[in-house]
Amino acid sequence: MTADIIDGKAFASNLKENIAHKVAHLKENYKLVPGLAVVLVGEDPASQVYVRNKNKSTLAAGMNSYEHLMNDDVSEADLIAKVEELNNDPKVHGILVQLPLPKHINEAAVIESIAPEKDVDGFHVINSGLMATGGKGMVPCTPLGCIMMLKDKLGNLSGLDAVVVGRSNIVGKPMAQLLLNESCTVTIAHSRTKNLAEVVGRSDIVVAAVGVPELVKGDWIKEGATVIDVGINRIEKEDGKTKLVGDVDFEEASKRAGAITPVPGGVGPMTIAVLLANTVTAACRQAGVDEPLNC
Ligand code: NAD
Repeated sequence: MTADIIDGKAFASNLKENIAHKVAHLKENYKLVPGLAVVLVGEDPASQVYVRNKNKSTLAAGMNSYEHLMNDDVSEADLIAKVEELNNDPKVHGILVQLPLPKHINEAAVIESIAPEKDVDGFHVINSGLMATGGKGMVPCTPLGCIMMLKDKLGNLSGLDAVVVGRSNIVGKPMAQLLLNESCTVTIAHSRTKNLAEVVGRSDIVVAAVGVPELVKGDWIKEGATVIDVGINRIEKEDGKTKLVGDVDFEEASKRAGAITPVPGGVGPMTIAVLLANTVTAACRQAGVDEPLNC
């Protein structure tokens, strides 16, 4: 078997097109322009690239983008004051504080200071609570992007055996919750899991979110399974150049899987597209206008 490649880039580009149409509709009919504020603390080069891309995509969708750059010695109190200012700004419908934050700042305290209805990253405890209890909160972007691709590929996920490898608050745990909400039978595997190969081998859906290059081996994959690789790892090749690989051995896994996301070009492009979708959702809810987009 050779797996179908799930083209996250194409999927994300379609989603962005839908978002741009929706934004144009909101502008014309409700004079509503969704606005996303991104707060970046410090000068971490990777975070700067993410923020630049978010800004570009937000503007391309016809939305307002507000960037707030703060020095890496900013105090926790001043950062929270900035978040509160954005909470009270009616032009801002979504707030994202780029992680990681410098060590002297308590990330949880900053996340909890974001108004839950503007928490487009979906990391606030109110939003994780709503997701766990079937409420209507904001859902973390990366796991939501994965679910969208899975549903597009498989249709109804009900009754399927799914494993999520990784239990972070940002990806693994919300991913498992979303799969449970789709009525999958969900296993969460992590660094202490015994016999990971066996757990993966009985799963119809494998989501890898670990951060260890090619940890999940091709011969672990059940024939015909759908594999979503969230991992982004930069490794050095024999010629000294570097390349990006996922948490799954793509070449071997694609000989057994029914469908698989590549790295790069799979989950990665979906994350920003879903961030824009979440901002539109947040703007509609705050303005009390019709619910947007099917996501
Ligand atoms: P994290 O470091 O917070 O969590 C990693 C998890 O993997 C932990 O729960 C740990 O228990 C588990 N783990 C570690 N070693 C393991 C092992 N040997 N066997 C089984 N489980 C093991 O990482 P994260 O923030 O969840 O990110 C995971 C990966 O996803 C990273 O490569 C990150 O860059 C990537 N990521 C990608 C996107 C995207 O948009 N594509 C978004 C977020 C994260």
